[in-house]
Amino acid sequence: MAVAANHSSPPAPRDQRGRPLGVLRLSLTARCNLACPYCLPDGVEPPGLLTLSQRLEVITAVVELGATSLRLTGGEPMLHAGLEKLIAAVQPLRATHANGPGLREIALTSNGTLLSAERARALRSAGLDRITLSLDGTTGESVALMAGLGGADREQKERSGAALLAKVLTAIEHARAAGFDPDRGALKLNAVIQRGANDDQLLPLAALARERGLELRLIEFMDVGNRNGWRPEAVLSAAEMVERIGARWPLEPLGRSAHGTASRWLYRDRDSASSGAHLAVVASVSAPFCGDCNRLRITADGVAYSCLFATPDGGIDLRPWLGPNAPVEGLRKAITGLWQRRADRWSEERQEAWNRGIPPATHAAPAHAEMAYLGG
Ligand code: SAM
Ligand code: SF4
Repeated sequence: MAVAANHSSPPAPRDQRGRPLGVLRLSLTARCNLACPYCLPDGVEPPGLLTLSQRLEVITAVVELGATSLRLTGGEPMLHAGLEKLIAAVQPLRATHANGPGLREIALTSNGTLLSAERARALRSAGLDRITLSLDGTTGESVALMAGLGGADREQKERSGAALLAKVLTAIEHARAAGFDPDRGALKLNAVIQRGANDDQLLPLAALARERGLELRLIEFMDVGNRNGWRPEAVLSAAEMVERIGARWPLEPLGRSAHGTASRWLYRDRDSASSGAHLAVVASVSAPFCGDCNRLRITADGVAYSCLFATPDGGIDLRPWLGPNAPVEGLRKAITGLWQRRADRWSEERQEAWNRGIPPATHAAPAHAEMAYLGG
């Protein structure tokens, strides 16, 4: 069932700022087996999780409205038992020719803790194109701190952190062995950097990624949700990250691709085709990219949001339009309406307030929906 551009395909909607819909970030669960303090998931699932067939309905509708990329996230998406089944089930939505409608990539963001060799192979054979694994440190201490690992004392925490680090490093190799080739952008590493917490890990993380031939994506600590203790002083700007790493390994700017979140850099001592030649930074706080944001987010219980910084009541519940008795047009109309009403530019507004001398922490910020709910 490829998505065909035929007379029955609805016109691709544009939002109030002329932005098309391009990416669907679908959260499969609000639960997580870690408790990173910068994210702090609930630990409990919201009631009314979507079923596989409801998720397929949603994905199909969003793809018909122009999305070409599907990112599966959470919470920890690998906790979802139906992950491989869902990936296999969306394969018919793939584009059948270049520039034609349909999915061009299916990606997963995971903390890597559950990525065994077997599951990596299962994900690959189900049709997953790309995996991004998250790792915020290279020592037991830093990993434990950033993953919110508990322990009776410092030594115990360090041991738990070291065990988690080893698990993620093994997961990287499982993914590589299963065919997720970093040289083709199919395997990357995410790291959130928080000033005063793990900014001493910048160079070690870059070294680790270079050694393992991976692109490292450094993410500024964002003010998503309401309980991660965000303060502007804890943000290490992407510019400073690049400066610090560039002082050790000179970098050449490659820019940010249209609709992308990351600005990419090339290590001057590496050939651009070689593995681990690139570094990326996601400057959503210091240099917002709302202007061409094309991402729609849908939670595990079927609420659609058009911005990562949306208020909890800023989404629309899609469940009334799902199921065998609901007319498919209703679902498409609901998503189209949300997208056409969309005028979000939260990060830019935060930045503008900041420039006017209003610190972001006091900028009239409405309560935000939580990151583990929205899926990052
Ligand atoms: N559990 C998976 C993981 O950690 O990769 C997927 C979900 S997680 C919400 C997706 C991404 O969002 C992760 O790379 C995580 O580091 C990032 N993230 C979570 N909270 C963040 C925050 N406050 N600021 C910046 N990035 C954050
Ligand atoms: Fe879990 Fe990912 Fe949030 Fe960490 S960032 S608590 S791994 S959902």
